[in-house]
Amino acid sequence: MVYADIIVDISHENLDKTYQYAVPCQLEKKAAPGALVRIPFGSGGRRINGYIVGLSDAPKCPVHKIKEIDEVIIEGARLESHLITLAYWIKEHYGGTMNDALKTVLPVRRPVRSKEKKYVVLAKGKEETGIFLNECMKKHNTARVRLLEALLAGDNLPYELVTGRLAVSSATIRSLSEAGWIRLCSERIYRNPVNLTAQPEEKHILNTEQRETADSIILDYRNGIRKTYLIHGITGSGKTEVYMEVIEAVIAQGRQVIMLIPEIALTFQTVMRFYKRFGDRVSILHSRLSAGEKYDQYTRARNGEIDIMIGPRSALFTPFVNLGLIILDEEHEASYKSEALPKYHARETAIERARLLHASVILGSATPSIESYKKALDGEYGLFELKERAGQGVLPNVWITDLREELKNRNRSILSVRLKELMKDRLEKKQQIILFINRRGYAGFVSCRSCGHVIKCPHCDVSLKSHNNGKLLCHYCGHEEPAPRSCPECGSRYIAAFGTGTQKVEEYVKREFPEARILRMDLDTTQGKEGHEKILSAFAEREADILVGTQMIVKGHDFPGVTLVGVIAADLSLYSNDYRAAEKTFQLLTQAAGRAGRGKDAGEVVIQTYNPDHYSIKAAALADYQSFYRQEMAFRNIMGYPPAEHMLVLLVSAKQEEKAGAASTLLYNMVRALTEEMDDKPSIIGPARASLSKINDIYRRVLYIKYRDYLTLIGIKNNLEQRMEESDTFRGINVQFDFNPLNSY
Ligand code: ADP
Ligand code: ZN
Ligand code: ZN
Repeated sequence: MVYADIIVDISHENLDKTYQYAVPCQLEKKAAPGALVRIPFGSGGRRINGYIVGLSDAPKCPVHKIKEIDEVIIEGARLESHLITLAYWIKEHYGGTMNDALKTVLPVRRPVRSKEKKYVVLAKGKEETGIFLNECMKKHNTARVRLLEALLAGDNLPYELVTGRLAVSSATIRSLSEAGWIRLCSERIYRNPVNLTAQPEEKHILNTEQRETADSIILDYRNGIRKTYLIHGITGSGKTEVYMEVIEAVIAQGRQVIMLIPEIALTFQTVMRFYKRFGDRVSILHSRLSAGEKYDQYTRARNGEIDIMIGPRSALFTPFVNLGLIILDEEHEASYKSEALPKYHARETAIERARLLHASVILGSATPSIESYKKALDGEYGLFELKERAGQGVLPNVWITDLREELKNRNRSILSVRLKELMKDRLEKKQQIILFINRRGYAGFVSCRSCGHVIKCPHCDVSLKSHNNGKLLCHYCGHEEPAPRSCPECGSRYIAAFGTGTQKVEEYVKREFPEARILRMDLDTTQGKEGHEKILSAFAEREADILVGTQMIVKGHDFPGVTLVGVIAADLSLYSNDYRAAEKTFQLLTQAAGRAGRGKDAGEVVIQTYNPDHYSIKAAALADYQSFYRQEMAFRNIMGYPPAEHMLVLLVSAKQEEKAGAASTLLYNMVRALTEEMDDKPSIIGPARASLSKINDIYRRVLYIKYRDYLTLIGIKNNLEQRMEESDTFRGINVQFDFNPLNSY
């Protein structure tokens, strides 16, 4: 008889252990680790689902007590056993239940029926369509142009792709179809989200930097060396071309590749580029695919019908049999870290999956995370630098304007004199402008408008947040002080909580430039599924002169018409209560600057700031990553922030404030006791109220533990988990663990 260890499909700490079930003979073939099964559970014999995580022939209790599996809902395969190992690693490293971890690595577990799919195809010959395309171009009918160009490059396009990534409205499709230029057809399909037949394109001849990078990685690969590489290349330096070169070599050895990109950067152009090079051996995953479409992509991957999977964080778990390479483009992006349980980081998890399967990892970014760059400098990762632009376009000219000077000169408006002048110039030249409001943590910190001084916590070097009761509070350590009436630095009375919203900027710009057409993009204006794409494509089609928005406008979009980018207040992200504030500011400013001058006209950038001398702002203006890295790393070393040390956050939530308080104090004491014997003790900060100290009437407390050794922190976490299970104090209390958080609590 074969017995299966099964994790039941209920996310509850108390059930986070395996139960043994007998495998009936007729199910033996299907019941491999990874399989989703239906089992009777509890005394009532209620039917629930579970995952097989192991098999054995030894019963753990009297045989007559062991129940049988009813049914195998989805078969497990041998390849999935490493994903179960990975799930265990995730649970160990990030906390949460085994069940949560399994759901993460085995994401789509329900087969879904196949369905009809709509396509758009050309109805007339290519030559005739080409002539019509020229007419559309002359009329600046850019939506039509986009669709026709894409159709001429391939010959059919999935309807969703046309309305989604291509952002062509259904009205445009209807009118083209009624005029007889295109046809809609549908077929029963094996859902393939990139069902394009693109003409293969000539490869670029790689430049020296690109060639050397690709060659060294490929040479390692052929020699059986597997490791992690970091490619630090300025925007437009041709990183994607390097990835493709390496991918080709990996595929030639019969292995597969996962390419992770942030969802927001998963544009139609990116997919087309891979498709043109690798044909229909490429597939994509993204959040807009239906469950059925996702399921089909996993099936195709498992069956060896594709070689490359492109997608956001979750695509990391694509069940390839012979995975050879994982790439993380824009590796610094915060979206690689899960915000739901388990709070895994796709970068670390990718490296672990690669280790299990003897695969390599490539990380790429124009602004690498401090963690990754440090590891590269320490020799843990191979490091490559691409310093030149590969295609056309030059880096823009960047001005820093000092808002303190503006105030001295009696300019109290949102726009500096320089920015206003340049805007006027661009509007006259009919070129486009982006105004970027760096809104992260925008409200709440208190700064002086005369000298730029920001009120900070004396213990933590983060800004204090203003609270309604007129007090300032540190969310890291709980330090509290009254809000000052005048600036402690210069005595000015212009000191107040900071906050400039997109709407305010839009209104102001409207008054200042009544003739300009303005689009605003923020959370309020992007409601609905296509809100995003609509605004971006309207701007790309030059339906507006100025785009005002938050960070969502500066990521990865290409607007060749934009020759001026204004950063309204660069400081807004600098003083969010977060030790990564400078890093985020540097990344955002570099990205924002990268939006200007992507076309034939050179670009200019104006960064408005109260801190013209801050290293993150200066380095971003000079596009000098190394100098930023040196200063930021010095700061992290002094403060013991990651990656100098590791940080474990305990978030304690409870319905009663006293309980949350008592539990967090008890945790604090437990950690103290656990580490008492150590010579070199971890620092414990808190317990304190979380920044969101109450959500839905649940009170939240945080405790931070900092230590140089990651494994010690994992040991502490495991120990605490164990004791919490045994202690009554933790009944009705939720404790979440998070390692090296990307957001503040
Ligand atoms: P990155 O990924 O670093 O931002 P890309 O790979 O997207 O850069 O390249 C930027 C632009 O330069 C693209 O339009 C690409 O086609 C072009 N490009 C890249 N490599 C070369 C090359 N070796 N020769 C000519 N053009 C290139
Ligand atoms: Zn001041
Ligand atoms: Zn503090």
